[in-house]
Amino acid sequence: MNTNDINAVKALLSTPKHIVIVCHKNPDGDAIGSTLGLYHYLKKYHHNLQVITPNDYPEFLKWVPGEDTIYKYDVQTEISDKTINAADIIFTLDFNAFHRTGQMQAILETTKATKILIDHHQEPDDYATYTYSDVSMSSTCEMIYHFINMLSDTDKIDTNIATCLYLGIMTDTGSFRFAATTSTTHRIVAELIEKGAKNSEIHNNVYDTNSYNRLQLLGCALTNLKIIPELKTAYITLTQNELRKFDYKKGDTEGVVNYALSLDNVIFAAIFIEDRQEGIIKISLRSKGSFSVNEFSRAHFSGGGHNNAAGGRSETSLPATIEKFLSILPQYKDALHHE
Ligand code: 5GP
Ligand code: MN
Repeated sequence: MNTNDINAVKALLSTPKHIVIVCHKNPDGDAIGSTLGLYHYLKKYHHNLQVITPNDYPEFLKWVPGEDTIYKYDVQTEISDKTINAADIIFTLDFNAFHRTGQMQAILETTKATKILIDHHQEPDDYATYTYSDVSMSSTCEMIYHFINMLSDTDKIDTNIATCLYLGIMTDTGSFRFAATTSTTHRIVAELIEKGAKNSEIHNNVYDTNSYNRLQLLGCALTNLKIIPELKTAYITLTQNELRKFDYKKGDTEGVVNYALSLDNVIFAAIFIEDRQEGIIKISLRSKGSFSVNEFSRAHFSGGGHNNAAGGRSETSLPATIEKFLSILPQYKDALHHE
């Protein structure tokens, strides 16, 4: 964000406003951490605040401070619409295009509120009055820290803010190991711990609350894992029946694709998950090095994200989707081979 924008945002926030903070559909740790981190920060200026998520999020995020105040748009549509229509300012966090909010797209497109985008995904749409986009950032939570810093307010970071921001940085960096984790990320995280984030507790809340069924589902996913050694690619499939068998709950498949990427000599990994309710195959793509899954997903699976982590979808059956995937892959033989 340039100095002019920061000064304008500072002026805008200097008197109490009606502010709505939104994130993408199927919120992850970074989405919940950044919206609630910003929420706790803006509270200090006595704004009228509401976080609205498009839909529900996994149980392992249902401890985050302030989480119980969130409206879920798909079940609290009327009050959410009212709140959005009354908003002076809408912060849109951790996504780059309105369609990423699912059912909320329509109202976000029509509202007259001033929009402030803070996000680290590639190629953000140009809808916001103020755009803070940086694709080199580890997480939107790291950007919220920088945003607070640009407003000269890091001394206002308390335990709640620190906890929320730590959460999102931890989850989006795969616990500080992905390439976007920089020395600055570590300095920020150190400061967040000093300000009260209980690192071990947060990690435990998110990662050590598995159900037996979830581990069995992971076992099933690993059994379904296939490797294409000549293309340094591995992929996993999960059918709706398999999900049902292990009593699938939201969030149960999060991170599973990383097992495929952890294989020696694999630099491109995918998971295909059948979603009969939405009538689609949900796809998560991960890579190592310069092979861009953002471009791959944009080109073939109506999605996008980052260079090394992206999502996508397919509207055909699971077998047809796999067939398409396998038929496309050879086009990338050189890119996949030169890693
Ligand atoms: P996941 O595979 O975990 O759903 O998503 C990986 C990353 O890509 C996340 O940062 C997520 O927000 C982003 N992402 C997932 N689906 C899409 C999509 O359809 N479009 C865009 N632009 N980003 C996506
Ligand atoms: Mn993120």
